[in-house]
Amino acid sequence: MNQVRVRYAPSPTGQLHIGNARSALFNYLFARHFGGDFIVRIEDTDVLRNVVGGEESQLSNLRWLGLDWDESPDKGGPFGPYRQLERLETYQQYAQELLDKGLAYKEFRENSDKYAVRFKVPQDQEIVFKDIVRGELRFHSKEVEDWVMIKDNGIPTYNFAVVIDDHLMKITHVLRGEEHITNTPKQVLIYRAFGWDVPEFGHMTIIVNEQKKKLSKRDKNVIQFIKEYQEMGYLPEAMFNFISLLGWSPSTNEEILTKEQIIEQFDPARLNKAPAMFDKDKLAYINSRYIKKLSVDELAEKSRPFLEKAGIPIPDEAWLKLLVGILQDRMSYIGQIVDLYRAFFHDEFHIETEAYQFLIDNQSAMLLETFAQKMVDHPFTAETIETLIKETSVQTQIKGKPLFMGLRIATTGDMHGPSLPISLALLGKERVISRLKQTIKQLRGES
Ligand code: GLU
Repeated sequence: MNQVRVRYAPSPTGQLHIGNARSALFNYLFARHFGGDFIVRIEDTDVLRNVVGGEESQLSNLRWLGLDWDESPDKGGPFGPYRQLERLETYQQYAQELLDKGLAYKEFRENSDKYAVRFKVPQDQEIVFKDIVRGELRFHSKEVEDWVMIKDNGIPTYNFAVVIDDHLMKITHVLRGEEHITNTPKQVLIYRAFGWDVPEFGHMTIIVNEQKKKLSKRDKNVIQFIKEYQEMGYLPEAMFNFISLLGWSPSTNEEILTKEQIIEQFDPARLNKAPAMFDKDKLAYINSRYIKKLSVDELAEKSRPFLEKAGIPIPDEAWLKLLVGILQDRMSYIGQIVDLYRAFFHDEFHIETEAYQFLIDNQSAMLLETFAQKMVDHPFTAETIETLIKETSVQTQIKGKPLFMGLRIATTGDMHGPSLPISLALLGKERVISRLKQTIKQLRGES
């Protein structure tokens, strides 16, 4: 095989979408697996659809995902420029060549010397190519009409520019979305017209939602832009892992794989023919696995901005680490820390009927008094709280559920939650004592 050269060729028409990210990522994997080059080329010829910042968003989101590339508009390279609008003369030159050979013709606009250039599609040609994903695909030139290569404003259409660029940039393999299958015969005919080698094509299946419908950007039930995942606190390594499984599967059952492992195991023969399902639960699961692998320090650093933004006061670093430490196993994305915090540490103290009944049934007042008295002269750390709970148990002879659930209800209002000593340490001595007093008063008042 020649030096592998693949490219990701986004149109800068918006933010990086999950489908585009997959195209980019599979090309990246292909290049890195075979020790080839990965090129980013901007296909900006659909001028009206270009958006300001579209290119930058594509590149910065790809970088965030952990991709890097060898040639691109921002990096340069031996086959530049890498933006199609900067290559207009080249397309003109090649269109002229086809005009000169009689393989294309001009179509003048009425009463004007402006013209479009149309490709003269040969009458009777079979177009057969082996698709890396789908095997042999067959078309016939009679299915293709004479199509516009260069519009009358001098700008080429996608199907023409893509061939010129892929040829000049020595692209060996073209991996892209299935929506481009029907463009491929048009492109193959251009390669033939110039007598150029055709690269190998691979068309990746569509991505579908959980109802098996093609994922559409308008589908509000699925978050589809990479930036949104970044903002929610998904980890790039997890996103990379998840996207790599959208239409590809490793040969072993282990799906949690590092970038390096995926590059090593990547095998184009294992690209799936069936549509790739965007499974939100799977993404959440993969992300939670990566969150579990973070150190408490890393998780604290990543969580801080979310808590701050939500206006949750962080007394000090130790408190933050304690908090993320007990919530780590429950988080499927970092931003969830806010909801989890609020679920377990409400500012308002309120005991629901069922929980209150538990205190009554277990005659908890004495337990709470004993615990409250013990607390007075002690530093309020998770370790000392644990000792105090034990001492309270010895003194009151109350154990197990009546002990732990009783103390939890009286201090947090909840019947369940994360580690009790840590939860109390996070709540802080003042709040814990005042809640205990309030609950004791209420219980005594009723007995
Ligand atoms: N600009 C095209 C797109 O965004 C690229 C298609 C291709 O890879 O050839 O769909």
